[in-house]
Amino acid sequence: MLIDSHAHLLKEEFGEELEKELEKISKSSVKIVNNIGYNLKSSEEAVRLTARYEFLLAAVGVHPYDIKDFKLNNAIENVYTLARNKKVMAIGEIGLDYFRDISDFREQRKHFKDQILIAKELGLPIIVHSRDAFEDTFNIIKETSYFNGVFHSFDYGIEEAKEVLDRGMFVSFSGMLTFKSKDKLREVAKIVPLDRVLFETDSPYLAPVPKRGKRNTPLYVEYVYRTFAEIRGIKLEELEKIAEENFVRLFNRSKNFINGRHYVQDS
Ligand SMILES: [Zn+2]
Repeated sequence: MLIDSHAHLLKEEFGEELEKELEKISKSSVKIVNNIGYNLKSSEEAVRLTARYEFLLAAVGVHPYDIKDFKLNNAIENVYTLARNKKVMAIGEIGLDYFRDISDFREQRKHFKDQILIAKELGLPIIVHSRDAFEDTFNIIKETSYFNGVFHSFDYGIEEAKEVLDRGMFVSFSGMLTFKSKDKLREVAKIVPLDRVLFETDSPYLAPVPKRGKRNTPLYVEYVYRTFAEIRGIKLEELEKIAEENFVRLFNRSKNFINGRHYVQDS
């Protein structure tokens, strides 16, 4: 079975076509989609949607672009409350983004750390977004000594990957792995231990080749799996099994849902 470990189904790119998309996914070989919140509203909605679709899981958190949410009262309490839902797998997407000058960097660091501490208290993994900010991202994680998590849509080099992996964290590959320009990322794919890897679409963004430029969808996650399987010279079916085990190991709570109907059907 295929798992999309990271998608944003609540982005406006899906809009009114979301239900249609969810129906398509429910009939596909993609058996689990981890729908990731990026602000309070999308986090709430992601949790709500899990009740309607068995294959949907969720993560709750505030992305560095949306940290204005923290000016609202109770942002932290809201994340806490939402995270209690059993279909919430992680705190995320949280992190640092110095590539776009959208939010104050100092505030990003503060809210990143605060959210890691929520995860730590609840024992939930973190889903980390990090762009042009590896050192600060990793330093903050080190300050909290909480390494239970994944660097999603990984786009750094081998050195950074090794630091992340040495601390026991996971690395997740997106459609970027298929991009012509991403030789450096394919080098990372060659060395990452197979028990520490996840795959995602980051929909609606980063559609993999040959769908590049289109709105991405969890339905395209297979292209990411296939590219990685090719790089490592392993069978797709084997990789699917590995990725599933990794997903359950990182996102503990998912075992209650993966072992349900879909799992039995496929095994
Ligand atoms: Zn994302």
